[in-house]
Amino acid sequence: MAEIKLSDMRDLTRIERIGAHSHIRGLGLDSALEPRSSSEGMVGQTSARKAAGIIVKMVQEGKIAGRAVLLAGQPGTGKTAIAMGMAKSLGQETPFAMLAGSELFSLEMSKTEALMQAFRKAIGVRIKEETEVIEGEVVEVQIDRPAVAGAASKTGKMTLKTTEMETVYDLGGKMIEALGKEKVQSGDVIAIDKASGKITKLGRSFSRSRDYDAMGPQTKFVQCPDGELQKRKEVVHCVTLHEIDVINSRTQGFLALFTGDTGEIRAEVREQIDTKVAEWGEEGKAEIIPGVLFIDEVHMLDIECFSFLNRAIENDMAPILVVATNRGITSIRGTNYRSPHGIPIDFLDRLLIISTQPYTPEDIRKILDIRSQEEDIEMSEDAKVLLTKIGEDTSLRYAINLITSAALACQKRKGKVVEMEDISRVYELFYDVKRSTQYLMEYQSQYMFSEVPAGEGDED
Ligand code: ATP
Repeated sequence: MAEIKLSDMRDLTRIERIGAHSHIRGLGLDSALEPRSSSEGMVGQTSARKAAGIIVKMVQEGKIAGRAVLLAGQPGTGKTAIAMGMAKSLGQETPFAMLAGSELFSLEMSKTEALMQAFRKAIGVRIKEETEVIEGEVVEVQIDRPAVAGAASKTGKMTLKTTEMETVYDLGGKMIEALGKEKVQSGDVIAIDKASGKITKLGRSFSRSRDYDAMGPQTKFVQCPDGELQKRKEVVHCVTLHEIDVINSRTQGFLALFTGDTGEIRAEVREQIDTKVAEWGEEGKAEIIPGVLFIDEVHMLDIECFSFLNRAIENDMAPILVVATNRGITSIRGTNYRSPHGIPIDFLDRLLIISTQPYTPEDIRKILDIRSQEEDIEMSEDAKVLLTKIGEDTSLRYAINLITSAALACQKRKGKVVEMEDISRVYELFYDVKRSTQYLMEYQSQYMFSEVPAGEGDED
């Protein structure tokens, strides 16, 4: 197995598809998991948010496998928004992978391989890197509450930093001036009190980290033997199993992580990695963090994918699977059978189902307000009332889309605040689904392939 260079992986954060949901910063729940009426960009949909909060708690609390959740509801009722809220509340350290069902069919790999990669993107590995000795001259050390950070770069100076103080020590000479009071020599062990920033000499060469820990959390240490520094911090790296797979896949290599062009990964590579990670786990070096895999438009999956999911969620390391759909009773892709949401009954039976409800006019108004703020658009009261009415009559999504275009219309007439006239203008310019359908019904005879009414030209 190729050497995994963890330091190279540190900056790889997951890429989130934002834009429509950029205003969502969490699920908007209080500490007792009760939904606030409007918080963290989230409005209404209280029971669905509460249920999602419980799922988040389950993920945070630990290693549960085989759980899957279905977010079901009409279009535009916030299913994706809730999934984004879950991702935000889980924080950066818990992996959250997201894909739309249709994406599986457009990738240059088999559907099940794409699903396997998505699963492994949602499984995190927390790897603890022990303190290490850095050879040569030292250099820059940052001490931050509550732990000591390691040497960062070789700049020829050492910076000791606490929240209260920052002092730069020159390691060029043998003697180090500490706060102008204490004389500290290379090789001395020094303690820094985080409250006062006072540096105390503790002696020379502590040998075990236990000795340092015994001094209590108020005191942080750096040991600087001649010409070398021992980092006194446990550095933790969070990577996903997929990242480890790609780095170790000989055919693709590390750069594939950036291009996304990972191709298929051989089963042997994955097996080796699983064994290695399990070993690290036993040695206490690593910990598996099952995250969340969110599959939007789950009705786009076919019977093969569902059977893969059935098996995959039973794996010990499986992430929590959250799927969403806006379909009612429809056919299961790849079969002639119909079922609720286009999901086979055996898989449906495993799902905890959260349903989202249509929004009230007040909720629509609040969401539109939040979106206007998010897009930095000022709107008059009348314009907001009109836009809310449009949202009720058409859809929330359509009304959200009008915000940006109305702002452009406003800009064009050199206005500063979006008024009713701007909203009316864009409402006339851009059709919503209802009007578009009506237009089609009236003029369908003038469209391509509509010249001959169905049935008339058919040969018997
Ligand atoms: P579809 O079934 O069509 O995929 P959906 O249920 O996933 O729809 P979203 O895309 O989540 O709907 O919602 C449409 C828009 O409304 C998004 O911009 C979303 O961020 C916003 N939105 C939906 N619900 C809420 C909410 N409760 N609070 C704040 N914003 C919301």
